[in-house]
Amino acid sequence: MTILIKNGQWLTDKGQKEAVDILIKDEKIAAIGPDLQAEDAEIIDATGLLVSPGFVDLHVHLREPGGEKKETIATGTLAAARGGFTTIAAMPNTRPVPDSVETLQNLNKRIAETGAVRVLPYASITIRELGKELTDFAALKEEGAFAFTDDGVGVQSADMMLQAMQLAASVDMPIVAHCEENTLIHKGSVHEGEFSKKHGLNGIPSVCESVHIARDVLLAEAANCHYHVCHISTKESVRVVRDAKRAGIRVTAEVTPHHLLLCDEDIPGLDSNYKMNPPLRGKADRDALIEGLLDGTIDFIATDHAPHTAEEKAEGMDLAPFGIVGLETAFPLLYTNLVEKGILTEKQLVDFLTVKPAQAFDLPYGKLEVGAVADLVLVDLTKEESIDPNTFLSKGRNTPFGGWECKGWPVVTIAAGKIAWKRGYVTV
Ligand SMILES: [Zn+2]
Repeated sequence: MTILIKNGQWLTDKGQKEAVDILIKDEKIAAIGPDLQAEDAEIIDATGLLVSPGFVDLHVHLREPGGEKKETIATGTLAAARGGFTTIAAMPNTRPVPDSVETLQNLNKRIAETGAVRVLPYASITIRELGKELTDFAALKEEGAFAFTDDGVGVQSADMMLQAMQLAASVDMPIVAHCEENTLIHKGSVHEGEFSKKHGLNGIPSVCESVHIARDVLLAEAANCHYHVCHISTKESVRVVRDAKRAGIRVTAEVTPHHLLLCDEDIPGLDSNYKMNPPLRGKADRDALIEGLLDGTIDFIATDHAPHTAEEKAEGMDLAPFGIVGLETAFPLLYTNLVEKGILTEKQLVDFLTVKPAQAFDLPYGKLEVGAVADLVLVDLTKEESIDPNTFLSKGRNTPFGGWECKGWPVVTIAAGKIAWKRGYVTV
């Protein structure tokens, strides 16, 4: 398939815009420049559209196998394509957990059969994510595991985490951590703060997260392991990561769009679409996350896309499962609320969703250059539309952002040289 994109707005390294044509051939970017021609190419008129490398999301719950009522690899990757994501990493808290060569092989087979974009599978750190016994890191790496994580739960034993980091370092793989100290959860459903007090709910204190990060950066130093912090949410966590980076420890961190855009003061009432783990924290935490992103403490943005069924979310703030969907709304939300408001530049936002996650994990994606795999997205930065969960391609409708007016909607997503998704009104 040969595709010629005409007249797209390309962001230079300095953040300026230049009109370019891009020729895609045999899954690769064959040429970038003015006035390109190609016979037999499908032409996409990108006049007025931003042309960006395809977005990279290293924290996605696809739910398959075992949770197909919430999402499948097919629906989750289509949601990713609609959101402009061409590479996503799938979390292992599925049933079964990819904790053996056999379960990972089965997962890879399903991905190859039904994935609309590239999926990098995480394998678990411990068997069934129970925190008791390490998986076979070398064999799982060989089978294509992207990294190791027990996301969904924290690894409770410091000894188990140290052993995991030592083993990961020996096979040159990262440990990716959901940081949560179980003895400090206090059966909470929201952040311990003003909102939990007002509604008489149990709160999850900030220290529940930060104490694990403080422990883990020291373990990572001892093991000389690349340690990555998932969905960082508190100001103390940001401070610990900043100090660890200054000390030369190999730590990276991600933050979600919802933690950048919302705090507990924004929760309108007992609405479980505002229930996620980690919870929406206080305003000072939100400010610290933005500051951490700007000063390089936080490396990139990841959605923590976590679909659930409407029935599950209807169980109320106390009982409903944690998590919200994020793939189809991430870029429009961040563009409208951070770039248009002058908090991030367009270039910074694009980098946090492309080259920065790729660099943190040594991935060859997230860049538009001749010879690179043709992963890209065309984005309409001018048309304003409101977020309508009923239009989602994800099975999940659980979002607190329904009705938000946004600009920055992806209109064509090309993954490995093929059109993975396009809006109804785009002709090619
Ligand atoms: Zn998590």
